[in-house]
Amino acid sequence: MTIHKNLIAGEWVGSDGVANINPSNTNDVIGEYARASADDAKTAIAAAKAAFPAWSRSGILERHAILKKTADEIMARKDELGTLLAREEGKTLPEAIGETIRAGQIFEFFAGETLRLAGEVIPSVRPNIGVEITREAVGVVGIITPWNFPIAIPAWKIAPALAYGNTIVFKPAELVPGCAWAIVDILHRAGLPKGVLNLVMGKGSVVGQAMLESPDVAAITFTGSTGTGKRVAAASIEHNRKFQLEMGGKNPFVVLDDADLTVAVEAAANSGFFSTGQRCTASSRLIVTEGIHDKFVAALTEKLKTLVVDDALKAGTHIGPVVDASQLKQDTDYIEIGKGEGARLAFGGDLLTRDNPGFYLQPALFTEATNAMRISREEIFGPVVSVIRVKDYEEALATANDTPFGLSSGIATTSLKHATHFKRNAEAGMVMVNLPTAGVDFHVPFGGRKGSSYGPREQGKYANEFYTTVKTAYTLA
Ligand code: ADP
Repeated sequence: MTIHKNLIAGEWVGSDGVANINPSNTNDVIGEYARASADDAKTAIAAAKAAFPAWSRSGILERHAILKKTADEIMARKDELGTLLAREEGKTLPEAIGETIRAGQIFEFFAGETLRLAGEVIPSVRPNIGVEITREAVGVVGIITPWNFPIAIPAWKIAPALAYGNTIVFKPAELVPGCAWAIVDILHRAGLPKGVLNLVMGKGSVVGQAMLESPDVAAITFTGSTGTGKRVAAASIEHNRKFQLEMGGKNPFVVLDDADLTVAVEAAANSGFFSTGQRCTASSRLIVTEGIHDKFVAALTEKLKTLVVDDALKAGTHIGPVVDASQLKQDTDYIEIGKGEGARLAFGGDLLTRDNPGFYLQPALFTEATNAMRISREEIFGPVVSVIRVKDYEEALATANDTPFGLSSGIATTSLKHATHFKRNAEAGMVMVNLPTAGVDFHVPFGGRKGSSYGPREQGKYANEFYTTVKTAYTLA
């Protein structure tokens, strides 16, 4: 089997490969992918540093052309890349193709942003002096990504980094090197100069750690677990570098007595269980007022019975497998924890057997949960959701906000008053009214508050906060 190599200083390098396994069918090896060492990471950082002066001064039309070409190729290959994504991550094919299209749209958006980087001209408070405020590239950006959105998250970090003139060392999650390799291959062939984008696939503790420890990495953008995020933060402060963190969520979805039951059930099923619950915006706490509680639980349970858990590539599958054995263990451990804490497992939670060996788990719905239980406070990152019964809107809002996280927060209601109040008072970076907590647009800011995020927002024009640094220049007329 040919080895997919790392891209360092414009060359494909690496000899040993690690097998990339399909979680829907563990007999299916997708490919062999090289594993970088700490020294490879250092070489990649040096290459990115060397490429920075020329790339940061490159013409915006050159950057536009490369990003546009990349967008076009991703769109043209959406079915093939979506299939690769579904095969290596385990989300269903329609979800995977949708994510691939999103990656294409992100490159298209940031191709446009290269032509819109503006500054400000402001009169000085002193006579005969002009002040210009401009934005410049930051330098070498370290990009560290998780496995749950293998093409969209790399896209939403790589595209703005390049658009604004930074060079990159990119370390994807070990479980999903396929999409990372494909996107880097496309960008490389689209004409990026040597060293502008370096791919170092490998272990977080080795390759990622080497990036954290390098004084030459000017900024790190990270999406992953809270624990690793804290390491990124500590190392970045040590090196006085910019950093941006997107970490966990324990997103609430409030269902009020006046909700449209169908809307509430669809949104809860989608945001709780689709993508196998492996989204940082998934809602794992359903906070339901007394008057609708029993009806809602009954309707959601009926809905869950209709959801097909099977091979991600099979037509008709609603929920694919869990991504790997260790995530599956985490999910089943939390199911046991929930039972032990006194929540009632109202549906699911069993391991499932399918035609091929894979990590199949039936969606699990707990009722009679409290917000103090571990299953309500800690991110599980699987198809495991708890229903918390509350008295009224006020208790629902207080419960929704009573969490260490603050990424996305949703409500199902037909009351304009409650919807408006919730939008203003939800302690989250994103608020959804009558919509799933997961599922966001690519051209507007993404990010959270409290323990979920740190630093400027990602995506849309707000991305320039992180990927540029501001310069204020004074000129005597
Ligand atoms: P998850 O639980 O989603 O795998 P992680 O935080 O472990 O979350 O992984 C997110 C990304 O961070 C991955 O690319 C992983 O390899 C990387 N990573 C893990 N440990 C470190 C580390 N010590 N330094 C830098 N990156 C790391």
